Amino acid sequence: MIELLTPRQVDEMRPAGRFVAEVLTRLVEAADVGVNLLELDALAHDMIRARGAESCYIDYAPSFGRGPFGKVLCTSVNDAVLHGLPHDYALADGDLVSFDFAVSVDGWVCDSAVSTIVGTPRAEDQRLIRTTEDALAAAIEVARPGNRVGDIGHAIGEVARAAGYSVNTQFGGHGVGRTMHGEPHVPNDGRPGRGFKLRPGLVIAIEPWLLETTDEIKMADDGWTILSQDGSRGAHSEHTIAITHGDPVVMTARD
Ligand code: MG
Ligand code: MG
Repeated sequence: MIELLTPRQVDEMRPAGRFVAEVLTRLVEAADVGVNLLELDALAHDMIRARGAESCYIDYAPSFGRGPFGKVLCTSVNDAVLHGLPHDYALADGDLVSFDFAVSVDGWVCDSAVSTIVGTPRAEDQRLIRTTEDALAAAIEVARPGNRVGDIGHAIGEVARAAGYSVNTQFGGHGVGRTMHGEPHVPNDGRPGRGFKLRPGLVIAIEPWLLETTDEIKMADDGWTILSQDGSRGAHSEHTIAITHGDPVVMTARD
């Protein structure tokens, strides 16, 4: 069932979006050479406690993971691209790390992800990240009443392919509300004019992710972390957005 929120409910969700943005901004600042992924998870956990928020991840136990997750943050480094389980690893110069974070504040969930480079960047990593961000921006641009979910997926796929990347559609975006994952599914590729018709009050997470030289993935030994099949690096960009009568509102926008 697809839930449409009233403008008042969308307003009630804003603190969750602001908090998620604040935590991701802090994590990007903190991600430096020598910083351990467990320290970053602890930092996010401290911020959750201080805010009185509730983690969507710590007890998360979906069919595709070896649940419960047990951490509050996904940290996907280099050939890891999604659901990276924080582990005892100190970030090294040139690492590409993606943070994915979702919490509930006052009963409303927001979900967002950002990719960044630690220390000295490689040009191909910058291009990969920029393409996921461009794909996300193109998708948000078409997230308007009257368009369809397929238009969002199509926008993502077009940007990715134009940059020379292929798209894996096994994991994508989703409805967001009182819980982290609702309907509709928002695929990272699609046919324009197809799928669920977008309406004001629909709140969704849009989350393109790309791998440099493959669209095939495999599961890491930890039972959670999704890796590229060929060892190439991945990037992930996600925002929770609300569809309105006017422009789409990016609930998790960072300054
Ligand atoms: Mg997410
Ligand atoms: Mg998500």
